[in-house]
Amino acid sequence: MVVILKKNPNEKQLENLKNWLRSLGLELHISSGANQTVLGLVGDTSVVDIDLIKALDIVEEVKRIQEPFKNANRKFHPRDTVIEVGEMKLGGGNFQFIAGPCSVETEEQICYVAQAVKDAGAGILRGGAFKPRTSPYSFQGLGAEGIRLLLEAKAKTGLPIITEIMDLHQLEYFDDVDIIQVGARNMQNFELLKELGKTDKPILLKRGLSSTIEELLMSAEYIMAGGNEKVILCERGIRTYETFTRNTLDISAVPILKKLSHLPVIVDPSHASGISWLVEPLAMAAVAAGADGLIIEVHNDPARALSDGAQSLTPDQFDQVAKRVFQIGKAFGRKVD
Ligand code: PEP
Ligand code: MN
Repeated sequence: MVVILKKNPNEKQLENLKNWLRSLGLELHISSGANQTVLGLVGDTSVVDIDLIKALDIVEEVKRIQEPFKNANRKFHPRDTVIEVGEMKLGGGNFQFIAGPCSVETEEQICYVAQAVKDAGAGILRGGAFKPRTSPYSFQGLGAEGIRLLLEAKAKTGLPIITEIMDLHQLEYFDDVDIIQVGARNMQNFELLKELGKTDKPILLKRGLSSTIEELLMSAEYIMAGGNEKVILCERGIRTYETFTRNTLDISAVPILKKLSHLPVIVDPSHASGISWLVEPLAMAAVAAGADGLIIEVHNDPARALSDGAQSLTPDQFDQVAKRVFQIGKAFGRKVD
């Protein structure tokens, strides 16, 4: 349920209303904008007499929320959430590129790619250390050593880093990681989501391979219910009957998620397609559809990459894609630097 207040509500009456709602056992989420303050109520709202609240001088409107996600709901929090890491801002009109290799392989590789993507305009470095691979015989990532190498690249370039967590027990290695990625395969690992809800780090939550938009938002809700409101949603393609591409990019998820939620939405055209030449057109479509950012795989030598080489761009290719995407972003009124 949300209670929308009239402009400049009387402070005393507002305090009384908040205390009354809290005394009913409800949790309050207050979202104050320039024109409107919204009280989001979480808990058993069946105890609330809507007519009593509507009758108050300071109240404009009261609405029941049908959707099962509350904290992630735009009705609770009308303004866009902006994620900030140092100087970097994502969401609320701020566009960001996240780029780097699928897997961290060597110090030279990650440092070289980090500098190249930074020069092309990326604001965040990606690189997998703990890798979820379909085959147990494929490269599984460098683990904690991979995170150490990412931190080297961060120290050299100043780029914040993002890397994937696969299991609760790995959390001890993430102290200096700026953004924690939850991969598609772990989108419904609820114990992991609950634990990440207790941290104060931004979480990049990828849509599961066969998950609905509502399931993605419910997973975001798990993190937010624990007190961590810094969630970035990522559309990375879903399973369909189409076999030409690795997955099918659900471009409609972008405007739908942005309508339903205030959280930033980014797109991963690399995993959505699995094919490097498709990354550019999908990236452009994503920006035009309203994405707040893109996460793109870039490798110094895609043919020899230890994972996802076929979908990885070379630094030069990434530079080209970034130039075109920035043009589109600017044309659509996004802040791109
Ligand atoms: C990745 O980012 O390298 C990755 C494994 O992504 P996803 O979880 O979307 O498959
Ligand atoms: Mn990958």
